[in-house]
Amino acid sequence: MNFTNPYIAKAYEQVITRNPNEPEFHQAVGEVFETIAPIIERNSIYEKNAILERIAEPERMITFRVTWVSDDNKINVNKGFRVQFNSAIGPYKGGLRLHPSVNASVLKFLGFEQIFKNSLTGLPMGGGKGGSDFDPKGKSDMEIMRFCQSFMSELFRHVGPNLDVPAGDIGTGAREIGYLFGQYKRLANEFTGVLTGKGLAYGGSLVRKEATGYGLCYFTEEMLKTLKNDSFANKKVAVSGSGNVAIYAIEKIYQLKGLPVTASDSDGFIYDPNGINLEILKKLKEVDRKRISDYEKMVKGSVYYPSMRPWAIPCDIALPCATQNELDIEDAKILVSNNVIAVAEGANMPCTPEATQYFQHNNVLFGPAKAANAGGVATSGLEMSQNSVRYSWSFEKVDEKLKAIMKGIFNNANDTAKAYGVEGDLVAGANMAGFIKVADAMIAQGVIY
Ligand code: NDP
Repeated sequence: MNFTNPYIAKAYEQVITRNPNEPEFHQAVGEVFETIAPIIERNSIYEKNAILERIAEPERMITFRVTWVSDDNKINVNKGFRVQFNSAIGPYKGGLRLHPSVNASVLKFLGFEQIFKNSLTGLPMGGGKGGSDFDPKGKSDMEIMRFCQSFMSELFRHVGPNLDVPAGDIGTGAREIGYLFGQYKRLANEFTGVLTGKGLAYGGSLVRKEATGYGLCYFTEEMLKTLKNDSFANKKVAVSGSGNVAIYAIEKIYQLKGLPVTASDSDGFIYDPNGINLEILKKLKEVDRKRISDYEKMVKGSVYYPSMRPWAIPCDIALPCATQNELDIEDAKILVSNNVIAVAEGANMPCTPEATQYFQHNNVLFGPAKAANAGGVATSGLEMSQNSVRYSWSFEKVDEKLKAIMKGIFNNANDTAKAYGVEGDLVAGANMAGFIKVADAMIAQGVIY
């Protein structure tokens, strides 16, 4: 990290020493601190109020034991977490990740990013994140249910519709949200909008399932139109992942007349030069919960590669939608040499800082996660609004609001970058726009003397 401002350098140093062995958290904080320098330099109020030191320290972090019984009657123990990072502009809001790689560093990076992302949506939501090192892969439905019930048996006392509203993330889809919601309702003895991503029959919002992938494409389309007078039409698109974000990005790419040619999971990727068959992909992943390698057996002309990175396939647009740090500098060089024109992050922090800089230095349009994938949490915010008034909006109405929010996020990031002398740098623009609102709210709310 390269900090020229002494206050920022000192605040970052403190994050490193206070949070040892947390590389993902350091990376996320470093990227934000580096890019908001113009604001810190122009406004001494942020240093005076120790905003950087305060914003990088979670308000609360809960760690708990999750004990559950597997089908063979064995007792299993996992770690459960909830990071309640910042509530300056609204109740804590952010997903629950179920994956063996989950630890404090990963959840703090995600919770930190969530603060700025939620601020960018324009909706009143603070930042949080949670999850467990539980691996849902290969578990039976009953095992998933028992795990979710045990997880919520502790979490329920820390969340609530006006306090903290979790949602899905990697490994947490509609099935898991249903079990979590059922257990919350049993324990709290009330039917409230405590989780988002709920089923439509019990308080969910139309478009929530599609929102992150659709929102990613709305953002990318706006970025292409404004900065390059271009669009998705007739573009070859490389997508990674084959989960919630990837599937609905692929669906929207087709609607915008592009051609998605790849999809992946943690074992490998599929290349389909004729365009990914969406019906087969949905059945494979959403219904049968199989591996992406099975796609090759089902679709003639497709090829499976046992590597999780599809970035060597020539494309015009790349949408990384799997996980953090899945696209590094070597991948970025290959994409640039293949004349990629735009990269937008569907996953959280999928591009390493070196890869991001390489794209920016080579005039590739770059949509950072905080802005580009904010459609999911924005629609969660719309689900909270509908729950509050006990009403459901139509698909068209929610989709229209989502589109307007993504357009607004792009314009906010783009205009802020211009205003602070870094025109075209949407990473800096998004970070600064998200930061100002939260920092000003923190100052307005004071500190305890
Ligand atoms: P899913 O669990 O639905 O899908 C995740 C996909 O990424 C799967 O294909 C999975 O493969 C792959 N993947 C996960 N971990 C790894 C890994 N370590 N290496 C390679 N591939 C991996 O999750 P989502 O689609 O919901 O989330 C994807 C990304 O988008 C995450 O970064 C998440 O934080 C972010 N995001 C999600 C939002 C949402 O609304 N769902 C909102 C905003 C951001 P496999 O099945 O083999 O694990």
